Amino acid sequence: MPNRPLRSTSDSSAASSPVPMLDVNRQNGPLSEEIDAAIATVTKSGAFVHGPACREFETSIASYCGTQYAVGCASGSDALLLSLMVSGVQAGDEVVLPSFTFFATAGAVSRLGAKPVFADILPDTFNLDPADVERKITPRTKAILPVHLFGQCCDMDQLAEIAETKNIPLIEDAAQAIGAEIGGRRAGSLGSLGCFSFYPTKNLGGFGDGGMITTDDQKLADALRILRDHGQHPRYHHSLVGVNSRLDTLQAAVLNVKLLRLDDWSAGRERHAQRYASELTSPQLKSQVSVPTVAEGYTSVWNQYTVRVAEGRRDELQSHLASQQIGSAVYYPIPLHLQKCFAELGYKKGSLPVTEQAAEEVLSLPVFAELTEAEQGQVIGAVAGFCGVESAGEGEHLAA
Ligand SMILES: *Cc1c(COP(=O)(O)O)cnc(C)c1O
Repeated sequence: MPNRPLRSTSDSSAASSPVPMLDVNRQNGPLSEEIDAAIATVTKSGAFVHGPACREFETSIASYCGTQYAVGCASGSDALLLSLMVSGVQAGDEVVLPSFTFFATAGAVSRLGAKPVFADILPDTFNLDPADVERKITPRTKAILPVHLFGQCCDMDQLAEIAETKNIPLIEDAAQAIGAEIGGRRAGSLGSLGCFSFYPTKNLGGFGDGGMITTDDQKLADALRILRDHGQHPRYHHSLVGVNSRLDTLQAAVLNVKLLRLDDWSAGRERHAQRYASELTSPQLKSQVSVPTVAEGYTSVWNQYTVRVAEGRRDELQSHLASQQIGSAVYYPIPLHLQKCFAELGYKKGSLPVTEQAAEEVLSLPVFAELTEAEQGQVIGAVAGFCGVESAGEGEHLAA
């Protein structure tokens, strides 16, 4: 046979057990005693709003991301909203951002009455194309909002240069990229403000919603603390119209426990990513499924491991995996510039060709830290089988 076996052993019993896309219980279960104790500390204290666990978590995130300040809020979506507000983005302003992202990135812009201006992405990293960002900037542009998609940072050096030249703030949507680095500098420390989410499926996930904004600018940090609390400072004195967006103390207590393990979990994701990259690699496979790339000098924290499937066969691969009870997901099937709610912005099919092609080709495979070797072997075997490559992962026709 022309292709080397992908696994040297086969385990037909493992091949029939389901492989989830993500299983948060495997991560939280072993920590339950510690987390329950942390929650009990909060419930016994009665300090439910902005209790000590919140400030502790803010300090820890600032230090983790390498920034002077971090300000907690209710969600990643609110982190974006508050960051745009504190940057002075108002109705009628324009914000340049990718279309290939989760809805919240553009939703925050629209909620302020500002206009999302979508720029295209680079085909190899799925991240903003700085050249297209530059083309999309007008005198009305009030911020650039790059998204570090799937766990890898955008080209922040080029974007920072554009932002500086045009004198507009650069706000990172780092919801998927906590701990990701460019030359040792971390996501959240690369722009004027960094936005994080602790939604349960993120790399650092709480037991519900939570968010954080990082910055080195004390004025911005102070203003964010006021904005998230109805704009009051001191109490009952409102110089600004703010919002109610608190990081819940119970979530902060949970996240304080989980943050201590984040680097181990990121290392687990990295290990899985390296195995996919080395085993999804035969020439026959490569012509059909291409693995993601990480730019020179960058690290990814692999919030998603996202392959491209050529020739319109993405959905077919997803069905093939599903038929073997293997989870996978499409992030994102419809780019934001083609969403009905943004129709009046006037984008058409063809407006952002690289984004549109990605939306048709991407498939994310299980990469959560607790995925077992056997499970990953099943995923690899099933992908290989789909590509017509024999592998021990395929029960009937074992590799010779
Ligand atoms: C999850 C996510 C958000 C929103 O975070 P929430 O905490 O769910 O509000 C924003 N942007 C991106 C890229 C995300 O992945």
